[in-house]
Amino acid sequence: MEKVILARYEEIFLKGLNKNVFENRLISNIKKKLGDLADFNVWKSQSRIYIEPRDGGFDMEEAIIRLTKVFGIASVSPAAKVPSDYDRIKEASLEVVRDLVEKYHYSTFKVEAKRGDKSFPMNSPQICADIGAHLLRNFPVLRVNVHDPDFILYIEVRENTYLYSRIIPGAKGLPTGTGGKATLLLSGGIDSPAAGWMIAKRGVEIEAVYFHSYPYTSDRAKDKVIKLAEKIAEWSLGVTLHVVPFTEIQLEINEKCPHEYLTIIMRRYMMKIAERIAEKNGSLALVTGEAIGQVASQTMESMFVTNHAVTLPVYRPLIGMDKNEVIEIAKKIDTYETSILPYEDCCTVFVAKHPVTKPSLNKTLEYEKVLDEERLIEKALRETETLKI
Ligand code: ATP
Ligand code: MG
Repeated sequence: MEKVILARYEEIFLKGLNKNVFENRLISNIKKKLGDLADFNVWKSQSRIYIEPRDGGFDMEEAIIRLTKVFGIASVSPAAKVPSDYDRIKEASLEVVRDLVEKYHYSTFKVEAKRGDKSFPMNSPQICADIGAHLLRNFPVLRVNVHDPDFILYIEVRENTYLYSRIIPGAKGLPTGTGGKATLLLSGGIDSPAAGWMIAKRGVEIEAVYFHSYPYTSDRAKDKVIKLAEKIAEWSLGVTLHVVPFTEIQLEINEKCPHEYLTIIMRRYMMKIAERIAEKNGSLALVTGEAIGQVASQTMESMFVTNHAVTLPVYRPLIGMDKNEVIEIAKKIDTYETSILPYEDCCTVFVAKHPVTKPSLNKTLEYEKVLDEERLIEKALRETETLKI
């Protein structure tokens, strides 16, 4: 019975003159996400988006799952659509409710009607009362409960009439592509996928960079990162993943620099390489999964020294979060189970016994001088593998 999907948005209302740009982007993102399920007509009317196949049916549940991952959508409802003719509305109300009663054994309800089309001969309270009585006559198990019903039958009378009972929360945020692009430093850990998702939620396209220290980190570690990029891609329109060979740089640093500065110098190299990649792909920021004080390389002092390696802004959306708060996000976006797979991490392979927690910028710059920075970075970039996910 439910053949149309209504999608609501919230924050786009605030966009004033730019509202159209956001709405149109949302519509085109929806079409891309559902394109292989059916040939959908997607249109907006009165700050609402309607999604309807041009002909035939489609997998409604799959469409709903995908739509709950489209940023910019506040909620969705599968709905029945009939012409705004009272007999047709009554008939449709029975069909929609029959499903609820038979499948879910619901027994209490109320009707909420909204009349958008004022030429319709009945007002909203009249529609509620009359359809309510009609349902009670046809389904003896049903009782009205206005305070805490098992389901609410919503009826919206517009140029057509839409009937629905489910309002499924969406991803919120802003439509992908309205916020430019950022380059995410994506490790196999818990934090960076969550950080990337938070930036993506604000309409930003994500390009990801992973530093791979083969053979110190195995191909399984790389596969894990690819899997995480796939998870992030489900929330966007795809992710480009750059896999940068990092072993030579780590070995050089390990050999030539004081051990307590290994991590900080390595992190500066990650930033510099990510910045080069970002500049090429048009990103306006780097993103990391750092939080103040989480580990030695994430103290205020360490992040000051890391930041100094680049001029692009570095966004750290998890900066004020506790680990448990990050884990909550990771579970919600379904990256957690992948992130906790026990494959080695490039940073744990070359790790000092006592890394500095308060590195000095001057010392760092001094220690780095022995490295042939340009050659190392050029080579790593030349050998970078780029995957479209
Ligand atoms: P995560 O859980 O994201 O791995 P973490 O708590 O393990 O973070 P670090 O290993 O210090 O912390 O890394 C801090 C940030 O640096 C990560 O969130 C990520 O953005 C980036 N990073 C670390 N290792 C890599 C890597 N091998 N490739 C790409 N980015 C990395
Ligand atoms: Mg890590």
